[in-house]
Amino acid sequence: MPTIFTKIIRGEIPCYKVAENESHIAFLDINPVAKGHTLVVPKREIDYVFDLPDELLADTMRFAKQVAGAIDRSFNTVRTGVIVDGREVPHAHVHLVPIYKEGQSVSLKNKLSFSEQEMKQIAEAIAGEAAK
Ligand code: 5GP
Repeated sequence: MPTIFTKIIRGEIPCYKVAENESHIAFLDINPVAKGHTLVVPKREIDYVFDLPDELLADTMRFAKQVAGAIDRSFNTVRTGVIVDGREVPHAHVHLVPIYKEGQSVSLKNKLSFSEQEMKQIAEAIAGEAAK
């Protein structure tokens, strides 16, 4: 059975997309821990990130770097943090968690709530920067 992320990649489930290329997609996490919390997902469906072939893993981090730059330029971040967990969705992905103040911890706890309109605006802002 395809993962939820494969369904998003196929367009069967909607997402707030921020960037895409032939091999990767980036969209907002539906349960964000910070404004602009983004998931970077290789389209190839492999569960464990360290099972990705070396070149694909490198491409994932290259794509994550581009998206993180777009997040940083879109909002007043200190920087963007990276988390890889993967125990909820068995499809390799990288969490990009924007950091807005020095004391902010980078974790997947403490979910925030944004309206659909806010999520749309956040995704559009990042997508706009990513396209530059
Ligand atoms: P992990 O597998 O790294 O522990 O977490 C998976 C992440 O995917 C969670 O932060 C969760 O909020 C997010 N997530 C799960 N289902 C969906 C979905 O259908 N759409 C989006 N955009 N994010 C999802």
